Amino acid sequence: MACQSYANQSDANQSDAKNTADPTTQLSSRPQLKSSVRPRLNQVAASAQAAKAQLVDIRSVNPGIRLDLRYATANNFMHRPLYKEARCLLRAIAAKQLSQVQTDLEAIGLGLKVYDCYRPLSVQKQMWKLLPDDRYVANPANGSRHNRGSAVDLTLVDRTGKELTMPTDFDDFTDRAAINYDGASTEAKHNRQQLKEAMTKRGFVPLLTEWWHFDAASWAQFPVLDVPLEAVL
Ligand SMILES: [Zn+2]
Repeated sequence: MACQSYANQSDANQSDAKNTADPTTQLSSRPQLKSSVRPRLNQVAASAQAAKAQLVDIRSVNPGIRLDLRYATANNFMHRPLYKEARCLLRAIAAKQLSQVQTDLEAIGLGLKVYDCYRPLSVQKQMWKLLPDDRYVANPANGSRHNRGSAVDLTLVDRTGKELTMPTDFDDFTDRAAINYDGASTEAKHNRQQLKEAMTKRGFVPLLTEWWHFDAASWAQFPVLDVPLEAVL
């Protein structure tokens, strides 16, 4: 119930923002009003930043990869949606590598399901406020590799899309999420290892504290971004 109420509240806030933006847009079409210049410049700056972001939508690279973008829903540790759109955006090089992992897995009757990809810096700041523990959330002062479009959170699914058993759920911030946690079932440990091998084979680097998180090896080439997901074309 609490989650539902958060979701409604967020929807209401988004609607409000949209409504208040409309009169501004109308004003900006009237050049005689000097006050209209600033909103228009802001719009131009936002779209220029989005154009330079060079993020690609994984659906356009490999539509076989399944999506469960948790931060676009209330089903996450923040208990409210943090994204306006459920999209997996990545740098092109990381998206291509992830597509290769999917192709490898399909050959053995498996596939990927992603929980999170590119994450704007402003969302990172919200997460850090709630969970300032750098074992699980990167300090926004440095930025996360997710903020660079160079990290992905994901799991394995079978041919029907059913998730394979893993040691924990996504975003379980306990020692059980560590990639070397030995107390999980044999099946869960096998699946965790299979995910790790499939990802590292194509150049991704695992994270010690979270079995679901992988960095693209190229992450350092790319800057931290704060472009909203819905602004990326
Ligand atoms: Zn992650």
